[in-house]
Formats: sequence, structure tokens, C-alpha cells
Amino acid sequence: MNHAILLNNRPKGMPQIDDFKFVEEDMPAIRKGEVLLKTSYVSVDPYLRSKMNDAKSYTAPFELNKPMYSGIIAEVVESRHSGFEVGEFVSGMLEWKVYQASDGRGLNKVDVGRAPLSSYLGVLGMTGLTAFLGLSEIGKPKGGETVVVSGAAGAVGSVAGQIAKIMGCRVVGIAGSDEKCSMLSSDYGFDEAINYKTSKNMRKAIAAACPDGVDVYFDNVGGEISDAVLVKINQFARIVVCGAISVYNATSLPQSLSVQPFLVKNSALMQGFIVTDFEASFPQALAQLSQWLKEDKLKYSETVVEGFDQVPRAFMDLFEGKNTGKMLVKV
Ligand code: NAP
Repeated sequence: MNHAILLNNRPKGMPQIDDFKFVEEDMPAIRKGEVLLKTSYVSVDPYLRSKMNDAKSYTAPFELNKPMYSGIIAEVVESRHSGFEVGEFVSGMLEWKVYQASDGRGLNKVDVGRAPLSSYLGVLGMTGLTAFLGLSEIGKPKGGETVVVSGAAGAVGSVAGQIAKIMGCRVVGIAGSDEKCSMLSSDYGFDEAINYKTSKNMRKAIAAACPDGVDVYFDNVGGEISDAVLVKINQFARIVVCGAISVYNATSLPQSLSVQPFLVKNSALMQGFIVTDFEASFPQALAQLSQWLKEDKLKYSETVVEGFDQVPRAFMDLFEGKNTGKMLVKV
């Protein structure tokens, strides 16, 4: 039998395990022009939370009683498609199933000889691209500037902070545990790291860590953490609004700082983006990320949970900060 995970309920607030439905189904049979894929790694990502709501967004919501889907690396285990051979690995937006048929559309071959399979869902996948392109296209950091990154020990944040270091900036990370903060300083070369869960006054902590103010803020979390950073921005600061995980489970409109006066008086730019806005730059960005990895200028970490049935749990754990680096499920 095959295994699949469907959306059972639209969550109210934090997702619960019964918002997901585990089902068994017949093994898929492939037709001419199709491949049979076996899932190797499933990417769980904060943005999937908004797709669980029945609300307008940049992509369609998940449908109730239909399989959820995300970035997946899979092995071709049977092929009736001239473009794919058995034993090849591919990445794509695929359903949360152990086996699935595909006509090949939207699949990208993964070069197993170049980098570990899992990295194609992280540093060499969507999260690495988000960090690189958000920072370079919107943040545009210059050497000597101060860059603050929230969600700094996560998949996007840890890469964004290291890239800002490569670009010669002073980098301050914000994360949710002392272990994560030490890792940012010792492994990733951040200049300072602030534990937002133990800091009594985030505004003071930001001011102490950024004596010259904040030139670029790479924001992964939104909410109160970002309010504390925004009051410290410099003239012509750039605020890269990558994500807002602190409010993804909110059940009412969050109360936040009124940012306009800070933007006006500092002639600052605040811009949201979706990584696919910069799709045309993916090849160059991936070449640069690969080069930095090869030169050991860029490091990455992964939290790998084992077992297909752990996919919903791993996803929910993102909101508890249980991952360091990219959260993945190995099937
Ligand atoms: P991630 O940072 O690896 O994982 C989520 C992390 O968020 C957790 O480990 C946790 O770390 C932190 N977190 C959870 N709840 C929080 C809260 N209430 N307040 C502050 N921090 C909280 O996930 P990711 O995949 O790299 O994504 C990071 C952000 O980028 C997300 O907001 C995501 O939606 C966004 N994103 C945007 C794009 C785009 O195209 N714009 C693409 C990919 C991702 P702590 O232990 O530090 O709390």
C-alpha cells in the first residue's frame, strides 16, 4: 500500500496533529510518458501554514481531504518517460505521498555527485535562493554596514547572515535559544547574537548590539522582534520582509508598531518579496551559492527527522523553534 497525508481541517491558531489525515491507498500505476517517484526527503516550511487557510495568497490554498504538497526530493523507481531513467533523483513540488506518478512537468534533476541530496531542499534550494536573492536584490548590503537578521538560526536566516558576512558587513542575529546564538557566533561568524526569548528588553539589546544603527534588516519573523529593530534603522535603511512566522498562527490582527514615521524620517525602503519574483536570477544565484559552499565560505545545518509519518510533526515543530537550519523529513 501507498501512504499519503491529506489536509483534514483548516487549523485555528497553531496546527494540531488532527488537522492532518494519514491515509493508505493503492500503489499508483504509471502510464506511457510518466515516471514513478519514491519520496526521499520532504521539505517542511513555515509558508505551508498560510496554505492551510482558505484565504487568498500568492498561491492557492491546500484543499480539504486532498494531499498536502511541498518541495520534495524523490528517486525515479520506474520510468515510461524518455527524459528520466530509473535511479535518477529529482526535485519538485510534490504531494505528501511515499510513491506518486508524475508526467515529469515541474521536475528538476538533482546532481547527486555535486552536493548531498538534502541540500537541494535547503542551501541549494528554495531557502538558499531566498536568502541570497532577498539580501542581494532588496537588502543590497555594502561593506561596513550593519545587517540584522531575525530567525537567524533557521534555514533562510543562517544563510542570509553568512552572506552578509561574506559581503563585509557587521552581522547581528536574533534567535530563540542560547545554543542557537552560540552557533551563530562560533560556526557562522555572526558578530553578535541575541536570544529574544531571554532578552528582557529587545530595543536595548538591539541598540547595544548595533551601536551604529541598522542599515539592513532581513526579517523572517515580524511582530515585536521586528518592532524593536525598526526603531533603530539608519537613514536609507533597507528592510527585507522575507517572512513573518511570529504571526502565521495569529487568530486576530496583530498589534504592531506604526512603521511609517520610521520609514519616512529615515528615507528607508521596506519591501516584501516571494523568492519566485527573482526566478530569472536562480541559475546565477545557485552558481554563487555552490561556489561559496565549495570554498567553505558558506556552511549550513539541517534538522533531519526520520519517517514519512513524522512530516506533520516536523512541520508543527517549526513554530516551536525545534529546528536549527533547514527542517527536513527523511523518508
Ligand atoms: P526556519 O527559520 O528554518 O524555521 C522557523 C524558525 O522560526 C524556528 O526555528 C524558530 O526559531 C523561528 N520562530 C518560530 N516561531 C517564532 C516566533 N513566534 N517568533 C520568532 N521566531 C519564531 O524557516 P525558514 O524556512 O528558514 O523560513 C524563515 C522565514 O522565511 C519564514 O517566515 C518563511 O515564511 C520565510 N520564507 C519566505 C520566503 C519568500 O519567498 N519570501 C521563502 C522561504 C521562507 P527560534 O528558535 O529562533 O524561535
